[in-house]
Amino acid sequence: MNIAIIGGGIVGLALGYKLQCENNNNIDIFEKEKRIGYHQSGRNSGVLHCGLGYKPGSLKAKLTISGIKQMIDYCKNHQIEYDICGKIIVATSNNDISLIDNLAKTGKKNGLTGLKFLTQHELKEREPFVKSLKTLLVPDEGIIDYRGVINSMSNNIIESGGNIFLSSRIKMLKKINNTIYLDNYSHKGYKYVINCTGLQSDLTYKKFSKEKRKMKIVPFRGEYYKLSKDAEKLVNHLIYPVGNPKFPFLGVHFTRMINGDREVGPNAVLAFKREGYKNSDISISDIIDYLSYPGFLNFIRKNFLFCINELSTSLFKSSFLKKSQVLIPEIRAKDISKGSAGVRAQGIDAKGNLMMDFDVIKSNNQIHVLNSPSPAATSSLAIADYIIKNYIN
Ligand SMILES: Cc1cc2nc3c(=O)[nH]c(=O)nc-3n(C[C@H](O)[C@H](O)[C@H](O)COP(=O)(O)OP(=O)(O)OC[C@H]3O[C@@H](n4cnc5c(N)ncnc54)[C@H](O)[C@@H]3O)c2cc1C
Repeated sequence: MNIAIIGGGIVGLALGYKLQCENNNNIDIFEKEKRIGYHQSGRNSGVLHCGLGYKPGSLKAKLTISGIKQMIDYCKNHQIEYDICGKIIVATSNNDISLIDNLAKTGKKNGLTGLKFLTQHELKEREPFVKSLKTLLVPDEGIIDYRGVINSMSNNIIESGGNIFLSSRIKMLKKINNTIYLDNYSHKGYKYVINCTGLQSDLTYKKFSKEKRKMKIVPFRGEYYKLSKDAEKLVNHLIYPVGNPKFPFLGVHFTRMINGDREVGPNAVLAFKREGYKNSDISISDIIDYLSYPGFLNFIRKNFLFCINELSTSLFKSSFLKKSQVLIPEIRAKDISKGSAGVRAQGIDAKGNLMMDFDVIKSNNQIHVLNSPSPAATSSLAIADYIIKNYIN
């Protein structure tokens, strides 16, 4: 059957790959940018998550556990680089101790079998520069070349007869009988249209669907610093703080990238534009959109200090450095320089709660992926299975 996917990020491409290459449909993917993976999917930490802290039974937990296995198989079958190097979670305060114990319990409930608390000696052997009161080893996590995955999926889709139209922003949808037509990009009609537009997913939903779920995507920018060549020795694998369970963001962490570089970040700064990669990127219409949404104002009211704190890490290198030094006290300002940034598409409900789980809904012949923040890159192939099994017939 003819199916259109709006959005050429990793979720749209994984769906396109499964529908075209494994299920023999005719897929057209429309991407508004000149290249695929230009937004979240091409600007993330490059980590393969294994389902440690997600609520047992949630979509995030189920689809990440299945997603990481599928992503590893995909890499093996398509010669894409990945490395299951494991990560450590580091408790640095008394408050962290109960939280790290809870993380281990949640991980076990999610079926992770290799979790292990490290002795100080084991920690020093693995990450000699880390300061920790208690350390959890998560051996099943790793790093990956997501850009390689995206390019490979795109090539496979096209080789199997699917189409990817770049520079093609979808603005209109028309339904005649049971067939959907999109803008002027294609005269073909579609049985289903799937919205995988990430940072724009709520706007696409609002424009195209008659049903009205109250949610909004709010952009949280994640900024990275790069470690200098001299400082690379400070980080061997993945080093994470315990994190605040109230938020889906994992806290500033150290990452060894698949190309060998070391990064520290990302923070979580409210952006003034959906696709705003710098503080000077401002969109008046986006700002008006958030300020007129009660859920956003409720979020700010409840989390004002968090927002200011994150903003300070964006404005002042010293503030960012201080967060990094909690994990590795020896790191100095000269060791890090400003790196890249990505913007997370994070759903907020009407009460101002951050939507912790993935959210997909069907409205007639339209399927909307409303909330697919981290770790949706890891989970993308499993998200695709979930949509195909539950919504496409
Ligand atoms: C800083 C950061 C770090 C992260 N780290 C990790 C990690 O280590 N591991 C992990 O698993 N996940 C991570 N994530 C999350 C992961 O990257 C995202 O969950 C995932 O990439 C979402 O993919 P997507 O396809 O839904 O969205 P996107 O990649 O944003 O793709 C959506 C696409 O839709 C297009 N689009 C929008 N509107 C239209 C329109 N009207 N017409 C046509 N095209 C349109 C956009 O141009 C865009 O290309 C991170 C995210 C960020 C931002």
